[in-house]
Amino acid sequence: MCGIVGVYSDENVAKDVYYSLFSLQHRGQESCGIATLNGRINHHKGMGLVTDVFKEEQLKTLSGNIGIGHVRYSTAGGSHPSNSQPLVGMCRGGKIAIAHNGNLVNSDVLKERLEDDGLIFQTSIDSEVILYLLARYYKGDDIVDAVKRTMSLIKGAYSLAIMTEKELVAVRDPNGFRPLRIGKRGNDYIVASEDSAIDVIGAEIVRDVEPGEIVLIKDGKMESFFYETDYARRSCCIFEHVYFARNDATIDGINAYKFRVETGELLARESFVDADVVVPVPDSGWAGAIGYSKESGIPFMEGLVKNRYVGRTFIKPTQKEREVGVKLKLNPLKEVIKGKRVILVDDSIVRGTTSKQLIESIRKAGAKEVHLRITSPPVKYSCYFGIDTPRRSKLIASSNPVDKICEIIGADSLRFISIDGMRSATHGKLSFCSACFDGDYPIDPMVESI
Ligand code: 5GP
Ligand code: MG
Repeated sequence: MCGIVGVYSDENVAKDVYYSLFSLQHRGQESCGIATLNGRINHHKGMGLVTDVFKEEQLKTLSGNIGIGHVRYSTAGGSHPSNSQPLVGMCRGGKIAIAHNGNLVNSDVLKERLEDDGLIFQTSIDSEVILYLLARYYKGDDIVDAVKRTMSLIKGAYSLAIMTEKELVAVRDPNGFRPLRIGKRGNDYIVASEDSAIDVIGAEIVRDVEPGEIVLIKDGKMESFFYETDYARRSCCIFEHVYFARNDATIDGINAYKFRVETGELLARESFVDADVVVPVPDSGWAGAIGYSKESGIPFMEGLVKNRYVGRTFIKPTQKEREVGVKLKLNPLKEVIKGKRVILVDDSIVRGTTSKQLIESIRKAGAKEVHLRITSPPVKYSCYFGIDTPRRSKLIASSNPVDKICEIIGADSLRFISIDGMRSATHGKLSFCSACFDGDYPIDPMVESI
């Protein structure tokens, strides 16, 4: 998972890109970078948060009227400085910089072929394959053609911000797995993963980049091209709405907050349990718990206090660290919990670490009963399209039925929303990829990687 942004303006864009990236920080905390065009392409990147990597002095060196940025959350490729983005390369047509969100399913095959041709890769990320292919096809004149040729070879999930020495290009794969939005501020254009990045610089939301669309911003104008307009292939990632995107993101016509509140309501209808209080698991469970409380009539209260200075515990490398991480991050509020029958609401269970730890500490805080309600179905299958789900064997729901999970995590009862329930919160607007829940992969990851 990652966040990307691209800004096109008459003025210096480094600050805009910085603020936009900052507002996409939830999409990746591992590394970040900015590239700008001022006659030539300059860039700066590093490990850590946006505010750590960029100070006034770095931004000063990044002058230019076009810029792209990236925040990274490692999926393909390890956590290493060389894997940070934007990737910048030199080709016949001049320098190209790319920022990629998503995951290719056939990058190994393509990489091998490129290596046969004598290329030496500098990173272990799939995005470098995209850069090499673009460099192969771009001769300095027709970037859209180079993008189309690249798209004919790469398979999987990709939202891209591409910058050449004269233009900004935004691309979304034909399935539309990852989001990409367009905004406008006077004569300026911005493309970004989520609305927050557009709002923060005072631009107006225009629309989504459509699946299969190539948006070219050049000479102050925006033009649209299509690699493919096969709407049957659309399969936007439903996990963006379940967990990943911020509440204020509207992706493909559905606002994440509304979706989450609604799945909470639907879940309360599907699996009501009588209790004294509905408690969200901060922050990802807030909206679902609001919906559950509204629909069930059971009061909503803050029963867990979150330490705002702890990052995401999910990505810690070892199980022990993840467990300590949960304790450090969330502490029960005894005054709310003691003697109560608690309904705990979270957005998802992946390994089961969070729920197990929380239920233990809520019981210690004196809860009479703990009922866990999850606003997504059980995550049973790995994601090959950019969500950081661990190997199948690590997914608690891949090998355990719901009652067994309930026993493992120590809840009095456990219910997940049904797949149909979750889908109904999308109001039939689109088709979604829900492979992590149902194993129905829109692109076969096995066939493609042979
Ligand atoms: P578990 O502890 O069961 O492994 O993970 C579930 C918790 O992690 C939930 O609170 C959920 O909000 C969060 N979560 C689910 N998927 C992801 C992900 O891809 N990345 C991160 N950072 N957190 C996730
Ligand atoms: Mg969470």
